Amino acid sequence: MNILVLIKPTPDITKVRFDVEKGVVDRGSASLEINPFDLYAIEVAKRIKRVFGGFITSLSMAPPHAEPALRDAIARGVDRAILLSDRRFAGADTWATSYTLASAIRKLGSFNIILCGEKSVDGDTAHVGPEVAEFLGIPHVSFVTRIIDVSVDKVIVESDFGEAYYEVELKLPALIALSRPVIFRDEFIEPSMPKVSDVLRAKKAKIDVWSADQLADVADVSKFGLNGSPTRVVRAYYALEKGRETRVVKGEEGVNMILSVLRETGVIS
Ligand SMILES: Cc1cc2nc3c(=O)[nH]c(=O)nc-3n(C[C@H](O)[C@H](O)[C@H](O)COP(=O)(O)OP(=O)(O)OC[C@H]3O[C@@H](n4cnc5c(N)ncnc54)[C@H](O)[C@@H]3O)c2cc1C
Repeated sequence: MNILVLIKPTPDITKVRFDVEKGVVDRGSASLEINPFDLYAIEVAKRIKRVFGGFITSLSMAPPHAEPALRDAIARGVDRAILLSDRRFAGADTWATSYTLASAIRKLGSFNIILCGEKSVDGDTAHVGPEVAEFLGIPHVSFVTRIIDVSVDKVIVESDFGEAYYEVELKLPALIALSRPVIFRDEFIEPSMPKVSDVLRAKKAKIDVWSADQLADVADVSKFGLNGSPTRVVRAYYALEKGRETRVVKGEEGVNMILSVLRETGVIS
């Protein structure tokens, strides 16, 4: 099986800061790591490879400092990691991101199955998986909580739509966007920590970095990045509940405020 995993390098959400003035995530404030949902996609890819044999390619669009996240993917079992990195990709909305990823997939050739996370922990739109599949003209299903069965030409999955579960059969090639936790056949899957030997092997592995020019034979480069994005963020602001005031309180003042609330509510005396 030729398996492709979409991996978004996302900031460590325990460390990342928000630029309150500009209303954007300060992406330089934390290192990039594999989006937690995508860790499950890697694990499912490994299970499929274990059953059918094959090759796992990962594809990411991110700035150059995402490279350690891709090495982590290799340590966890990805056979080849490709990073799309170029200033001309910057500022892409989800449409332009998906167009770029789909173009790179077309350049790479054909895949039996494409796996991705249901959503990212930073952008959180859940757009990219379905959009990539639409660009490629292949079937797709999101919010997948279980791979019931997979064979060489089809996959049967369970998808959680909140109020109902759907059992969906898709002809391969197809794209599956995974929730977490996820069950592969009857096994509950948790991302496993890579072994030290795999981490060391991954340190020496080659990461293929592709620029916009390298996709020029399969894509319209004017559709990349901010210029190719049909949407614009025109304003970012905190949602305030009516009648409530939001204030950022730091240090000792913040600690004292928490203590006084805990005292007032009787949690501590
Ligand atoms: C107008 C506009 C401008 C923007 N400008 C910037 C900017 O300058 N810099 C910036 O960092 N972001 C920018 N963004 C955000 C950027 O568009 C999203 O981060 C990106 O499209 C992915 O969307 P998401 O995080 O919601 O992914 P989701 O759709 O929630 O992710 C679902 C899954 O898709 C896959 N996936 C998602 N993104 C990638 C990726 N890049 N590579 C590989 N797989 C992926 C992963 O498997 C992931 O689990 C901008 C957005 C808009 C609307």
